[in-house]
Amino acid sequence: MQNHEKKLLVTVPLLPPLEEFVLYLEDIWKRKWITNNGHYHQLLESALCEFLEVPYISLFTNGTLPIMVALQALRITGEVITTPYSFVATTHSLWWNGIKPVFVDVDLRTGNIDPNKIEAAITPKTTAIMPVHVYGSPCDTEHIQRIADTYGLKVIYDAAHAFGVKENGHSILTSGDMSTLSFHATKVYNTIEGGALVCHDEKTKHRIDYLKNFGFADETTVIAPGINGKMDEIRSAYGLLELKYIDSSIAKRKQIADMYRDKLKNIPGLTFFDSDPNVTYNYSYFPIFIDEQLFGRSRDSLYFYLQKNNIYGRRYFYPLISDSPTYKGLPSATKENLPNARKLSESVICLPMSSELETADVEHICYTIKNH
Ligand SMILES: *Cc1c(COP(=O)(O)O)cnc(C)c1O
Repeated sequence: MQNHEKKLLVTVPLLPPLEEFVLYLEDIWKRKWITNNGHYHQLLESALCEFLEVPYISLFTNGTLPIMVALQALRITGEVITTPYSFVATTHSLWWNGIKPVFVDVDLRTGNIDPNKIEAAITPKTTAIMPVHVYGSPCDTEHIQRIADTYGLKVIYDAAHAFGVKENGHSILTSGDMSTLSFHATKVYNTIEGGALVCHDEKTKHRIDYLKNFGFADETTVIAPGINGKMDEIRSAYGLLELKYIDSSIAKRKQIADMYRDKLKNIPGLTFFDSDPNVTYNYSYFPIFIDEQLFGRSRDSLYFYLQKNNIYGRRYFYPLISDSPTYKGLPSATKENLPNARKLSESVICLPMSSELETADVEHICYTIKNH
C-alpha cells in the first residue's frame, strides 16, 4: 500500500482509441477540407446538440474564445458581476472586452456565486452577470435569473466544468442567455483544445458564427468586427469519437467519487461538498477542504505530502482571481468582500479524478490522506 509507483495526476485526458481516430484522419485526407465549417465540424455540432440536449451550439478552438464572443454577441459593456473563485479565463475575458469585473462572494456549500450578494453589487453601469458552475455543480440559476429580469441584465454562464450536467432531468446549459464550454484536455470531455457556445435561437447562433469567423456574413461582406475562433476538422472528428466514450468515462468517475466519499468521511478537519439528489453530475473534480486546526496539518502541507507519495492534486482555485496583480486593486477585490471565496481557496485540494484511476489508486490516495 505504501509503495505506489504510479504517478497519480489530478486529470488524465480521455483519449479515444488511436485505430479509430486514424480512420477519421484518412477520411479527412480524402476530403481535403481541414477547417472552416467542414463535414466533421457540422457533424460534431449536431451530435453535441443531441448529447447535451441544447437547441444551438457553436464550436470554438478553445474555451476562452466563446466567453469573449458571448460578451461581444450580447454587446456587454460597463460592469459585469462575476466570481473570484474560478479559472482566470473567466475574468480575463471581461478584461479583454474592456469590461470592469465586479467580484461577488461565493456560497460555502458549493463554491458558486452567492445570489443573495449579487444585488448589492449592481450599479447603473452593470449590464450582465457571469457566474461559473464551479466543479460542474449548478449555480442557483432561478434566483440569478430573477435578479437579471428585475434589473434588465444578461446572464452568461461559464459552464466550462458543466459538460452534460443536468438538474431535475434538464440540461443546465440552457440557463441564462448563453453558456460557454471548454473542451480542453483537462476537462471531462475534450477535443485536445476546444470549446463551444450554447444559445437559444437560430438568429443568435448565426451572429455567433459570423463573430467567430472574422465577421464574414458571406464571401465578401464583413458585417461585424469578428475574431478567429474556428475549430478545425481534425479536432472535430476527435470530438465526435470522444463522444462514444464519454458515458462510460463519466460512469467510472462516479464510482471513484463514491469511493472517495465513503473512504474520506469522518476524518476530522476534512470536508467535501454535499451532492444534490436532483443533479446529474459529470464528476469532473473531487475537491476536499482542509481545516488546519482540526486536521493537524495545513492544506499546503498536505498538498506537498501527497506529492511525496506520488499523488498530484491541484489547488483549484488558488490563488483567487481577485488576488492577481491585474485585479487586486479593484474595489470588489478586497479581503472583506470575499471571505467565503478566500476560505475555500485557502483550504482546497482537488484530488486525482479520471477514468484511468484504479480502485487500488483511490485506496492509496485515501490511505495516504488518513494516515498523514
Ligand atoms: C478551462 C476553463 C476555461 C478556459 O477554457 P480553455 O479551453 O482552457 O480556454 C474557462 N473557464 C473555466 C472555469 C475553466 O475551467
